[in-house]
Amino acid sequence: MSRFIREENGALWFREALVEDWGAAMRVKEVLFDEESDHQNVLVMDTERFGRVMALEGIVQVADADEYIYHEMVSHTPLLARPEAERVLVVGGGDGGVLREVFRHKGVTSATLVEIDETVVDFSKKWFPNVSAGAFEDPRLTVEIADGAAFMKAPPGMYDVIIVDSTDPVGPGKVLFTQDFYEDCRAALTPGGVLITQNGLPFFQPQELRDAHQRLGAVFQHTGFYVMANSSYCGGFMALGFSTDDKAAFSPAPDALRARYASAGLSTKYYTPRLHTAAFALPAWIEDILKGA
Ligand code: SAM
Repeated sequence: MSRFIREENGALWFREALVEDWGAAMRVKEVLFDEESDHQNVLVMDTERFGRVMALEGIVQVADADEYIYHEMVSHTPLLARPEAERVLVVGGGDGGVLREVFRHKGVTSATLVEIDETVVDFSKKWFPNVSAGAFEDPRLTVEIADGAAFMKAPPGMYDVIIVDSTDPVGPGKVLFTQDFYEDCRAALTPGGVLITQNGLPFFQPQELRDAHQRLGAVFQHTGFYVMANSSYCGGFMALGFSTDDKAAFSPAPDALRARYASAGLSTKYYTPRLHTAAFALPAWIEDILKGA
């Protein structure tokens, strides 16, 4: 089905095609870019409800209106669970939103972004400056334009936190969801390091979550999932994977999270220390998906 629908009154709608039998639509003010990069279709548009939106392969990746939700939850959850973290690796993340949140932690001395598609970085700097908010100019940043799976085979360093901020397991993203990749991530983590993974919408992609649970669980001593919901990733909860060998990072005490949040001087619009703990309390139907793993 076409990604765009034109109403008789002339209104233009973008229809996301995450799954073939269901989709959300958003009314479009202007299509700014819609072409194939070397790796995927890149669509940038201004919409009435979500502001500026980027979609890759027809799937929404970042929307001005609510991008902070995902970017705060994938960044502050590991960095407050492991406050001694200094070196961060972001796989994917070409829009710069994760980098923006990571660099708010003064203890972070270096961040490496491994993004396969330079077009995404270039467009994000141009069309989504408030998402990266200067992160691409931060002196702590190194940008590698490469396949994250190939990079992880021989990473130049070791990392305290790895955040896989990738597309879904389609197209170039597929290689970032294998047990082999997770094993390479663990080998690139310092002892007790934390791996965060984007594991889709359980309601529509239960098998993706089962696969992640089974593969991550085979590699790390502790693997859990936490959930968040934002409207532009429509379809209910999104699941994020939290994997580590460090029990203390896996289950941080709530008062320790509160103290770290305060001393980090963070002010966030979605993440809170209480929500950090609560987000790991999964609805029964998601627990059942994991049991089926
Ligand atoms: N927040 C979004 C989400 O949760 O779906 C992800 C946004 S970010 C733009 C996703 C990035 O992953 C894209 O820029 C894409 O080019 C990148 N990517 C996909 N496969 C990759 C790979 N194998 N190596 C590195 N980057 C990859």
